[in-house]
Amino acid sequence: MDTILGCPLCTRPRTAADIHGLAWSSHHGPGGVVFVCGPCTRAHLVDLECGLIDPADARTPAPGRVARAA
Ligand SMILES: [Zn+2]
Repeated sequence: MDTILGCPLCTRPRTAADIHGLAWSSHHGPGGVVFVCGPCTRAHLVDLECGLIDPADARTPAPGRVARAA
């Protein structure tokens, strides 16, 4: 299981303060749990809640997604 340390939508790194805060939202998928930063959660709230964007699915195209090396 890969651990994504930053927001999968904007690649902002998740700091220790973010881990202890409540701004980031968690999204659970078969590959594990990913966390989306507060600004992206607010900007894509409808898409996230309706399942139009699944940040836990690496195949989902998303604004600002950066391809990661395998
Ligand atoms: Zn973000």
